[in-house]
Amino acid sequence: MKQTISIIGCTGSIGQQAIELLQNYTKQYSVNALIAAENYKLLASNAIKTNAQIVVIANKEKYPKLKEILNGHKVKILSGEDGVKEACSTKIDRAIMAISGFSGINAIVNTIGNCKIMAIANKEPMVCAGKIIMKMAQDNGTQIIPLDSEHHAISRLLKGSDINEIKSFTITASGGPFLGYTKQQLQNVTPKMSELHPIWKMGEKISIDSATLMNKALELIEAHNLFNIEPKKLNVLIHPQALIHALLTYQDSSVSAIINTPDMKIPISSIFTWPKIPVYNNMLDIEKLNSIRIYKPNQDHIRVLKIAGEAMQHGGNYPTIINAANEIAVDAFMHGKILFNKIIDVIEETINLVPFNSVYNINDVIIANHSGRRAAKNIIESVKIL
Ligand code: NDP
Ligand code: MG
Repeated sequence: MKQTISIIGCTGSIGQQAIELLQNYTKQYSVNALIAAENYKLLASNAIKTNAQIVVIANKEKYPKLKEILNGHKVKILSGEDGVKEACSTKIDRAIMAISGFSGINAIVNTIGNCKIMAIANKEPMVCAGKIIMKMAQDNGTQIIPLDSEHHAISRLLKGSDINEIKSFTITASGGPFLGYTKQQLQNVTPKMSELHPIWKMGEKISIDSATLMNKALELIEAHNLFNIEPKKLNVLIHPQALIHALLTYQDSSVSAIINTPDMKIPISSIFTWPKIPVYNNMLDIEKLNSIRIYKPNQDHIRVLKIAGEAMQHGGNYPTIINAANEIAVDAFMHGKILFNKIIDVIEETINLVPFNSVYNINDVIIANHSGRRAAKNIIESVKIL
């Protein structure tokens, strides 16, 4: 009997890689739902290729076009937020959550309890509501596997270990495309330049996060929420080749690490075989370790990572405000409203503007997200932070 799987955000960088890998598992899996926001052509082609039962296009305006392409195919076609909710409420075996940004939170929450194993790439909801989501998953019998490469590496390293035996956790940052740029040079970078990551080929938003190092700040909070790691035990090292993804230092002074070719298909393929390790071939040439570079974050990096430290310390609405401000600032940069080097300024100013609140449930987090977005938009519009 085949297991059922859904891919939420199937037309993006992570989603398409999952669709490609799925072709190796057609005997074991049948596709339940495929979901996208805008790209109805790729969604339709994915649906035809995988024989999906349900497709959802979040933007309702694209529904007629999607329906036209899928005419004659046996597939249920839904649209809008309601459609996403309906598709996520079907009972399935496994799911891959690959929406980009906070807007993926409802899909995660609605899928919990309806699927046995959930692989989460969509880090922003885990930054804002990770502890609440982990508790919901535990209470509803859903196992969560992180797909973010560093967190995936930690989850692999933690298998069978006692967390108390670990002295510190280190995740690496490639430093993005502007590593070594001067302040002057950073003023002139464009969105196109920010998307050209030297190692990873990713979606637009995460590429810019990687360039500002906010991606690593978000990942520190994500690690704290996923594994309940004390903030003082979490470290970041800059490692431009991105071969080492995470290192665990034990109380006896030994260190274990996950080292592999920077290829997101390595963590993504795990959803098809978890808890077993999948067969996937993109071997690292071990001799490459001869020339690896690893160094401590500089003052500019520390400024960004400090934001994460404060968010973990405060908890409550703080991580959500930071994430919301970042999403608004990145969007403003992509639309030419602010310069690249103002993204972090917008985040810092937003933190100063929005009062601290505790959050107890997903609704509180959604309210915090609105407050953070509103404050960041006001900062960009009123102060003309260009
Ligand atoms: P992309 O922007 O490439 O893809 C996002 C996907 O989500 C697309 O399928 C998009 O549809 C869909 N989508 C966006 N908003 C909605 C919505 N409201 N409802 C339904 N579908 C939606 O992102 P990535 O694949 O790069 O990243 C996905 C997540 O994984 C992010 O949170 C990122 O931080 C994380 N991640 C990504 C890595 C990578 O290598 N790419 C590595 C580690 C983590 P459409 O195409 O139609 O717009
Ligand atoms: Mg990562």
